[in-house]
Amino acid sequence: MRSLDFVIVGFGIAGATIARELVQRGHRILVIDSNVHKATAIAGGTIHPAVLRYYNQVWRADEFWPKAKTFYQNWEQELEIPLITTNGLIRVFDTKEESELWCEKRVDKFWGQYLRPLSDVKEQELTHLNTPHGYGISEDFWRFDPKLLLDTYRQRLTDEGQYLNIELAFNSEHTLNDALADFGVKAKHVILAQGYQQTYWPGLIHGNPIQAKKGQYMIIECPGLKLSKVVKSKFFIIPIGQDYYQVGATYPRQDQPNHIKESQNKIVADLDGLLKMHYRIVDYWDGVRPTTKDRKPILGRMDPQSDVYV
Ligand SMILES: Cc1cc2nc3c(=O)[nH]c(=O)nc-3n(C[C@H](O)[C@H](O)[C@H](O)COP(=O)(O)OP(=O)(O)OC[C@H]3O[C@@H](n4cnc5c(N)ncnc54)[C@H](O)[C@@H]3O)c2cc1C
Repeated sequence: MRSLDFVIVGFGIAGATIARELVQRGHRILVIDSNVHKATAIAGGTIHPAVLRYYNQVWRADEFWPKAKTFYQNWEQELEIPLITTNGLIRVFDTKEESELWCEKRVDKFWGQYLRPLSDVKEQELTHLNTPHGYGISEDFWRFDPKLLLDTYRQRLTDEGQYLNIELAFNSEHTLNDALADFGVKAKHVILAQGYQQTYWPGLIHGNPIQAKKGQYMIIECPGLKLSKVVKSKFFIIPIGQDYYQVGATYPRQDQPNHIKESQNKIVADLDGLLKMHYRIVDYWDGVRPTTKDRKPILGRMDPQSDVYV
């Protein structure tokens, strides 16, 4: 029987992050992942301290933002990959009033360092976009490549014998330990990082705090557009290289029969209004977000008697 400090079930951004932290602290770990249905691999990878359009700061933005930047930069160096692919965001305003709001917000210290002053000179890279109400630029906006991160780190862990590609079936702490024993593994602690597929919540008797929310991106090819920054109008347009762009993501209403088709039509309608150029749809990517009602993460030991963490 292989004896470990931690088993981590799930290798999306949550599982990968905790795995890296535990390895750095010298613990013996094993990551178990089915490598299917993951949100992280198809996500936009946008990281930013504010939600433009609504002009809200994300939760604990002042703490989160400097830490996130250092965190991803360090990981990029460790893995020796170009992880952070895009710096900067262009926000295409929905209305004339939004440009006034942008200027008002800049008076505040947080927003002042985040939003660039508006300018009358049209940016070269916006030549091919319709911006009737103007636009604002934020340099302090990052995008990392989530798939590259997972693929590279998975390979590292596999090389070290710390990754197992299997689906673990369990619905209680007892069946979890039995399932691990079937694979010859025994761990002091187990961390569940299963995204929307998590159904066992130690310490929670009623209900599941996760709401699964579908999302879809359309992948387009648009030679000549030549965007280096991410553009945000109703949707994000994220440059992913070789004249390809990831456009989305949608929040389709799952109770409607044609929700996928409808969400695709919404992206097309937005793009047709925004782009002055012809583009070609090459693919659709979809995934399921693990969301919570209050949009805050769930983390820790929920049952003091248990060795299973979330
Ligand atoms: C379309 C879309 C776009 C998004 N864009 C952004 C964005 O731009 N910026 C942003 O911050 N967030 C974005 N998100 C949200 C973000 O992707 C998720 O919040 C995040 O990736 C969740 O990570 P996770 O590790 O919790 O789950 P996941 O990435 O889903 O990983 C869970 C893993 O656990 C594995 N697993 C589950 N059960 C088992 C089991 N029993 N045995 C073995 N393995 C198991 C799964 O196969 C999966 O690999 C987006 C999400 C979607 C769907």
